[in-house]
Amino acid sequence: MIPLDEARSFVRQACRPIASVSLPLRASIGLVTSTDLLAQESVPPFANSAVDGYAVIAADIAAASTTAVELEVIATVAAGARFDGVVASGQAVRIMTGAPFPDGADASVMVEETESRDGGARVVISTSVSAGTAVRAAGSDIVEGALLFPAGTVLNAMALGVLASVNIRTIEAIPRLRVAVVSTGDELIDDGGPLGPGQIRESNKAMLVAALGQAGCDVSDLGVVRDDEHALEAVLRAAADDHDAIVTSGGVSMGDFDPVKAVLSRIAEMRWMQIAIKPAKPFAFGLLTNNAGAAIPIFGLPGNPVSSFVSFELLARPALRSMMGHTNVDRTVVAAISDDPIKRRRDGKTHFDRVDGAFEADGRWHFRRGASQGSHQLSWSASANGLAMVPDGEGVSGGDSVDVMLLEL
Ligand code: AMP
Ligand code: MG
Repeated sequence: MIPLDEARSFVRQACRPIASVSLPLRASIGLVTSTDLLAQESVPPFANSAVDGYAVIAADIAAASTTAVELEVIATVAAGARFDGVVASGQAVRIMTGAPFPDGADASVMVEETESRDGGARVVISTSVSAGTAVRAAGSDIVEGALLFPAGTVLNAMALGVLASVNIRTIEAIPRLRVAVVSTGDELIDDGGPLGPGQIRESNKAMLVAALGQAGCDVSDLGVVRDDEHALEAVLRAAADDHDAIVTSGGVSMGDFDPVKAVLSRIAEMRWMQIAIKPAKPFAFGLLTNNAGAAIPIFGLPGNPVSSFVSFELLARPALRSMMGHTNVDRTVVAAISDDPIKRRRDGKTHFDRVDGAFEADGRWHFRRGASQGSHQLSWSASANGLAMVPDGEGVSGGDSVDVMLLEL
C-alpha cells in the first residue's frame, strides 16, 4: 500500500491546466482567468446621488436641524437623465438615486428628511448634512486602468457584475473540462428494465456525472460498457479524442475478471495503486495518448459505490480542478469533536468515515458517525457532509478531536 499523499501528488503532477480560451462573460462563472483584467472604464462613470432626495449646497442648510430651511426647486433629474444648469445658493434639485449630480450642489438630502411645498416648486429641509453626503464620486468604485482581477482569479457572481460594469464582455479563461464517464460491469443495468439474475442497478455513473458537474466539469455520460475488451477499448479511445479526462468506474480491484485492467494496461500508461485508506484502497491512474498525440488523464475508480465516491473526492476531483487552473483544490478540513466513540482496528490505513457534522454553539465542529460504513452502503453516506479521517490505530473516544474533510466547502 502507498500513502494517500503519494497517490495524490502522483496524480496531481500529471494533471496540468488545459489551455485557456476566449469566452463570453456569461459563460465564465466559476472559471479561472488566464490574463490580468484591467478596468476599461471608471465606475461610476459620473458623480451621482446615492439617495432619492434633493441635491443642495450643504452650507445653505447648515442650521436646518434647529430652524428648517426652505429652498427653491429648480429642476428634477431622474436616473438616466441630466440637468445641465448650476445649483446656486438657496436652490435645490429634486434628484433620484443614480441620477447625475448637478454642478453647484455638494450634498444630497434624503427625501424622508424633506417636505415638498407649492406643488414641488419649493422644499423645506429640516436636517443638516456635511458636504459630500450621499454623493457618489465618479470612479469611487473603480478607477479606469485599475487592476480588477489578476490572472488566476476564480470568477464568482460578483466578479461577473464588476466585469460587466466596465464593459468587459469577453474574457480569457480556462474552460470547463470535458470529462467522459464510463461504468463497467456485466451486472449493471441502467435502462430501467427488470433485474435479471445477478444484476444490479447502475448507480456510480449517476453519482459521478453529478459530482463532476458540481466540480465545474462538462460531463459526457458514455453509458455502461459490458465486460468486453473490444467494446471497452473502442469507447475509451473514442472518449480520449474529444475529452480532456476520462473517469471509469469498476474493475480496478485485486483479482478482477473485468477487462478494465487488461485494456487500460495495454492502451494507456497506467499506475495501479493500493492506497492506505479505507474505503477506496484500489485506484488506477494513467495517461491515454489520443489520435492528436495528447495525453489524456484516466481515473480508474473502484466499483463499490462508496469507494467510488471517496476516491473521486480524494484523488480525481482535486486533479480535475487543477486542470481547470484552480490552485485551491482541496476541501476544507476542520478539527471536529466526535460525539461518539469510533472503534476500529489497526490495519495500516487511514479510515475516511462518512460523518454528519455541524458547527455548534460551543464554537466547535461536532460530528456523528452512522453505523453503516460498508463500502457498498451508499445511503448513509448520502446524508453525511464530511469525511472523518480516523488515523490508523484503535479508534477514538467520544469527545476526541478528529480531522474532518467537509464535502461542501
Ligand atoms: P468492481 O470494482 O467492478 O469489482 O465492482 C465492485 C462492486 O461494485 C461490485 O459489487 C459491483 O457490482 C459494484 N459496482 C460496480 N460498478 C457499479 C456501478 N456503476 N454502480 C453500482 N455498483 C457498481
Ligand atoms: Mg466490475
